[in-house]
Amino acid sequence: MDNCIFCKIISGDIPSATIFENDEFKVILDRFPGNQGHVLIMPKQHCANIFDIDSDKAGRLFSLAVKIAGVMKKTLGFTDMNVLQNNGEIAGQTVPHFHLHLIPRYENDGVQIKWKQLDLTDEQIENVRKKISENL
Ligand code: 5GP
Ligand code: ZN
Repeated sequence: MDNCIFCKIISGDIPSATIFENDEFKVILDRFPGNQGHVLIMPKQHCANIFDIDSDKAGRLFSLAVKIAGVMKKTLGFTDMNVLQNNGEIAGQTVPHFHLHLIPRYENDGVQIKWKQLDLTDEQIENVRKKISENL
């Protein structure tokens, strides 16, 4: 993808602080991190988001995430972490090339990820449950 920042990082046209790469994935430090040690894991082959990625590849990406997270925990001196992944502009995705965020959390770090909780009725919950469950 000609205009994709992450494709340019993967090809080496834009430099990045690279932690790991193999033929399928690249793992880099976020250039504008939410916290110290904020890591991004991305597939090398361009795909936009969770609706676009091959599910087996997504599985291998998550296995890699588990390994990287463990090494980060051992080496960076934190105990807690957020793992998140945005899909589409409304969901806050700013770079439309699939990537998983690994964000270390430190006591009182001020990072905010929480949402306001909705107070739905049991009926509302059941309506949504049915729609998804019956189409799996
Ligand atoms: P998103 O908002 O799409 O979930 O995440 C995109 C991430 O890419 C952001 O956290 C942002 O800081 C990071 N980012 C944007 N441009 C660059 C760049 O040129 N290099 C690196 N390493 N990270 C970038
Ligand atoms: Zn791309």
